[in-house]
Amino acid sequence: MSLPSLDHSSADTMNPQATPAQPAATSTPPSAKAQARERLENNKLAKRLARETTRAISDYNMIEEGDRVMVCLSGGKDSYGLLDILMRLRSRAPFHFDIVAVNLDQKQPGFPDHILPEYLRSLDVPFHIETQDTYSIVTRVVPEGKTMCSLCSRLRRGILYRVADELGATKIALGHHRDDILATFFLNLFYGGKLKGMPPKLVSDDGRHTVIRPLAYVPERDLIAYARHMQFPIIPCNLCGSQENLKRQEVGRMIAQWDKEQPGRSWNIFNALSRVVPSHLMDRELFDFAGLKPTGIPDEEGDKAFDGDEFQGPESHQAQADASVASTPEAVMAATPATPTPGAAVPLKETALTFIRPSGKRTVATDNAGDKQADQQPA
Ligand code: SF4
Repeated sequence: MSLPSLDHSSADTMNPQATPAQPAATSTPPSAKAQARERLENNKLAKRLARETTRAISDYNMIEEGDRVMVCLSGGKDSYGLLDILMRLRSRAPFHFDIVAVNLDQKQPGFPDHILPEYLRSLDVPFHIETQDTYSIVTRVVPEGKTMCSLCSRLRRGILYRVADELGATKIALGHHRDDILATFFLNLFYGGKLKGMPPKLVSDDGRHTVIRPLAYVPERDLIAYARHMQFPIIPCNLCGSQENLKRQEVGRMIAQWDKEQPGRSWNIFNALSRVVPSHLMDRELFDFAGLKPTGIPDEEGDKAFDGDEFQGPESHQAQADASVASTPEAVMAATPATPTPGAAVPLKETALTFIRPSGKRTVATDNAGDKQADQQPA
């Protein structure tokens, strides 16, 4: 299994919308009613973020009793959001885990190295700033005009893994969100010829680190709104001068367009990533087509073969969330992971990934090729 890429060329970027809100230039202060409405919306947003993060943590068993979670901070909106949400959840979690925030100062020109230490001190959270001049290495080694992200992220990855060891971290948390997962899925589909996304949890290729993405269920727009509300001191991510990956930009625009014109489509696709039906794809490693034989046992949910599939309208992800048995963060954190339905699925390989269906059933699929994700980025 390869290392997870930690290229931060797209997510957690300096989205202009995520820039901390500046004092309004208008002389008319918002009315009391408008302020109350805003408070309500922010309250709802904070609750939604906590609930969705908790659900992802619980679904994938990301954080356990006694864990020391290293939260990778780049200075972008996503990693600020991740740290903030995890700190809130920790204070209410029914079990103990530690958080240590880590930033890698890569010595990019103009990097404001005082911002993160000041912010982290104000939070009273343990943190470590690792200073390594990978910028000089990358600019020296990579020919001009070529993309630097691949080498840069490889160097960063190695450094962060070493730091995780030194800090005794048992989990490395990255700030990738729902839209990063979707974008990676489409990049692999369009340009890699693979049905492959960005897992919420994975083991690094050296077999020594568990990488988690607690924001896996959170749409980017919520993180943008939260960063604005919290006025996180965002650090620009374009200091290295590298161009953002054009293919990722293109996919991002496609998803944004759908969200505008076909509300629900991207959620449906996202939900599909955890409802894999290996028997209805064509991967012979995932499903034993060669040995397929009639069982003689009727199956209500079985394949109708001659009937076309019926497709309903977009299913609300939120509706699923609301329907979950444990809806409060505390309840979800305390919930025992669902027991696989006997006989529902059999792991084909030891590296199998388990998908939990909305019905509570678990479906198992293998990760044959390991993690070789298209352009990703650190939290
Ligand atoms: S080269 Fe720049 S954009 Fe690419 S991964 Fe490194 S810091 Fe991020």
